[in-house]
Amino acid sequence: MNIILFGPPGAGKGTQAKYLVKKFNCFQISTGDLLRNEIQKNSEIGKKIINNMNEGKFVSDEIVNKIIKDIVFDPQMKNKLIFDGYPRSISQAKNLDNLLDNSNQKIEYIFFLNVSREVILSRIQKRKILEKRSDDDENTIIKRYEKYMETTSPVLDFYSKNTNFYEIDGSLQIDDITAKINDFIKV
Ligand code: AMP
Repeated sequence: MNIILFGPPGAGKGTQAKYLVKKFNCFQISTGDLLRNEIQKNSEIGKKIINNMNEGKFVSDEIVNKIIKDIVFDPQMKNKLIFDGYPRSISQAKNLDNLLDNSNQKIEYIFFLNVSREVILSRIQKRKILEKRSDDDENTIIKRYEKYMETTSPVLDFYSKNTNFYEIDGSLQIDDITAKINDFIKV
């Protein structure tokens, strides 16, 4: 089963992705984690992206699409993809469609965790304290939110027409969001 978890930073995509990974024996494809990992390894990609990441800007489609291509074509991960933080632009969404077509896969469910700016800000501030994430200072949070609104909203329009698109109130408790996801998957 392939699933896209969609929603602004701090909406709880990562938490739900981890739940789905366990439940369906899948892989969490968090582009944020994959990119942070490149920075930690101090790889060539890591050196190219560190400034954008720290400033809350998007990493180039070229870099992100390449990372995703390797994953989609990895036979071990076939039909076991839980996307968390990808796609984030129309060009990434179109790229994903192509990659899935070319690897005989499809997305079964798209879950949009919808939360207000206020809820996101307070959650990210808590996460900053708990996880000591360097890109999560206040200015960055606002930049990331604005970037989300500007670039990711069209992706929402792109997906919301699909019959497998489900919107969930992301301000609910974690367990309640999980229950809603489960209800949709059962149908
Ligand atoms: P996240 O952990 O998903 O909130 O992502 C953290 C940061 O990684 C973002 O602010 C971007 O700089 C970068 N990033 C993650 N996913 C993507 C993506 N799909 N496209 C471009 N940049 C991304």
